[in-house]
Amino acid sequence: MTASNSNDLKRPAIIINPAKPVEVDVKALAAKHCSENGWGEPIWLETTKDDPGVGQAKEALKQGADVVIAAGGDGTVRCVAEVLAGGDVPMGLLPFGTGNLLARNLGMDVTDFDGAMAGALAGTERKIDVVRARRKDPDKEQLFLVMAGVGYDATIMADTNEDLKDKVGWLAYVDAGIRNLPGKPVRATITVDGNEVVHRGIRSVMVGNCGKVQGGLEIFPDAKMDDGLLDVAVLAPHHGKFGWLSVIAGMIGKGRGKDTAVEYFQGKSVEITLEHNDDYQLDGDHDGEGRHVLMTMDPGALTIRM
Ligand SMILES: [Mg+2]
Repeated sequence: MTASNSNDLKRPAIIINPAKPVEVDVKALAAKHCSENGWGEPIWLETTKDDPGVGQAKEALKQGADVVIAAGGDGTVRCVAEVLAGGDVPMGLLPFGTGNLLARNLGMDVTDFDGAMAGALAGTERKIDVVRARRKDPDKEQLFLVMAGVGYDATIMADTNEDLKDKVGWLAYVDAGIRNLPGKPVRATITVDGNEVVHRGIRSVMVGNCGKVQGGLEIFPDAKMDDGLLDVAVLAPHHGKFGWLSVIAGMIGKGRGKDTAVEYFQGKSVEITLEHNDDYQLDGDHDGEGRHVLMTMDPGALTIRM
């Protein structure tokens, strides 16, 4: 590069998990696209077990990155979004994860790394909603982009065999679910926009910002990530071994309203209080247990460039 003053050039930051094998030379890919677009050298930041992306995203902003590219899976994307949401710097995506749920929901071709890199530098921008989830005990606020939940789906996130999850996605969750049966429903109080909608035993509450999960299954058929609304699915299967099969069948068949085992709600906020602690997950990562969470929409808070 022969630019007169490299300080004038735009620079992307690339946040990557060095432990994950990637089938492409990311440094060469980035160098090629930076050169083609007249950008400076990328700011290269690697995640660690202790800091899976938040510290690196803050460092990227500190160094003046013009776009922060989350090169990883939904976990990396979520951590980078924690820092970028509410700000002006856009996020780019290099979908190197197994699920890549955000990228898929955005309609990206998750096998086209060249296109993804080009889009992150010179693509079009769109604003998407993020959901802020505030928990009591442990007292923390986190953000998610795809879906979060308490109860059964979080249990299977924790339990799912990773190799299986890589290979077969959602089916692995179902497999884990079958291994987890039988369990007891937990009594839950759920309010949507301040109105109590559920007060009974449930197995799982899933809150979505996007509709699609792996395997073509749409848990939230009507979810849009830019409508300022979150989608809530309450799963309370009928008792017995085949109860879950009816839930899954209901989802696949989008059997909305036909099967009371799955109830859907939409709103700007949802508050979930359980009778006792249960598993909790955010964008597919298990994050301990809890019995309370308040999830609130932050409309259009994150800019994606793709
Ligand atoms: Mg929405």
